[in-house]
Amino acid sequence: MAELKLSESRDLTRIERIGAHSHIRGLGLDSSLEPRSVSEGMVGQTTARKAAGVILHMIKDGKIAGRAVLIAGQPGTGKTAIAMGMAKSLGLETPFAMLAGSELFSLEMSKTEALMQAFRKAIGVRIKEETEVIEGEVVEVQIDRPAVAGAASKTGKLTLKTTEMETVYDLGAKMIEALGKEKVHCGDVIAIDKASGKITKLGRSFARSRDYDAMGPQVKFVQCPDGELQKRKEVVHCVTLHEIDVINSRTQGFLALFTGDTGEIRAEVREQIDTKVAEWREEGKAEIVPGVLFIDEVHMLDIECFSFLNRALENEMAPILVVATNRGITTIRGTNYKSPHGIPIDFLDRLLIISTQPYTADEIRKILDIRCQEEDIEMSEGAKLLLTKTGVETSLRYAIHLITAAALACQKRKGKVVEPDDITRVYNLFLDVKRSTQYLMEYQHQFMFNEAGG
Ligand code: ATP
Repeated sequence: MAELKLSESRDLTRIERIGAHSHIRGLGLDSSLEPRSVSEGMVGQTTARKAAGVILHMIKDGKIAGRAVLIAGQPGTGKTAIAMGMAKSLGLETPFAMLAGSELFSLEMSKTEALMQAFRKAIGVRIKEETEVIEGEVVEVQIDRPAVAGAASKTGKLTLKTTEMETVYDLGAKMIEALGKEKVHCGDVIAIDKASGKITKLGRSFARSRDYDAMGPQVKFVQCPDGELQKRKEVVHCVTLHEIDVINSRTQGFLALFTGDTGEIRAEVREQIDTKVAEWREEGKAEIVPGVLFIDEVHMLDIECFSFLNRALENEMAPILVVATNRGITTIRGTNYKSPHGIPIDFLDRLLIISTQPYTADEIRKILDIRCQEEDIEMSEGAKLLLTKTGVETSLRYAIHLITAAALACQKRKGKVVEPDDITRVYNLFLDVKRSTQYLMEYQHQFMFNEAGG
């Protein structure tokens, strides 16, 4: 029974969830930054995508620090989708950090500390190390006794990932030293005596277990990577400043990286790290890789946060800041003043502004097509036409939500293809904003705290 439960829970973790933006795989631009009409899950919004592409170019170039971009437009016009497209188009080494303005007010730390952490999550450090290494990955390391018949369960088996650099390189260097010019191949097994550091090549198979037994328990067994071992001179590690901060903020700080429970980090720790990184940069050991910090719902920030951002962008290590909002002229939080998007004028003046436009019926149809594919839902032509019409009259988001609901209605009647009737059924079950407001206006006297008056 216990075994059954275990395997069930393993299966569950393998299910991939489909998020609002999971169909977005990039910005859909060609090599000369021209937007393709439908590409990488992106539809229309060509001017905004092109502008985002130019910013992306700046980021990849890595030379310009402290630029800030505002994506402004009506709700559901793809602002977050464009930021996601940018994130997907960045190389693996370029950090992308994301937060919603409202998150700053719900964390157990000051707003400016949360912003500082977000900034440092978006600044990468490429650290170069001059060392003798092996190319490739050590596939398997067994600590203590090897897998002899019947004792396999007692053997600690550890598959090293490339991030566990130290251990891999350590072992690699030792192997090269011990084996000299002898070639080591995939599947070869090597024993390292932990006490003396003595290394023996044992052959290709675990069948020779008598050899292992003779070496006692304090032995590491290493299975070598595909191909031959080679010497290489330079290793590069990519980390973010935030990761360095957290690891150095307390003993076993690296554990906090997994739990996310980083707490506030003292200014002295950051100063020391900045000094160290500056030293490495001077010695040519490290390079700064400015990434992207995306703040959605930027109108939720207050005047203190904006003044922090103003200052933080002056730093030469600053990442590219991308902010998004759907607000018009509104009050700046923490003041009685109104300004465009609720953003103070001095900060607005720093921003390159990209605006998104409402979608045409044809574009809505194409986005709905992509979403049906993403959710693996078959829909008849008639149902798609009806859903597109609904999207035009209500909103793109509402129409996207109806896809999943209509598929459930279809499943319930044991159908395979979503038909117009399924769309109508869920359209009547779930109200869109317009119909909900209309209902409220009609029955407002029956609600509590009604303030709409006549
Ligand atoms: P809000 O102002 O309400 O935050 P938004 O402008 O950020 O809205 P998104 O959340 O990006 O809007 O878009 C709504 C949905 O439509 C998302 O599922 C998004 O992936 C999808 N979408 C929007 N624009 C496009 C597009 N051009 N191509 C493909 N999908 C899109």
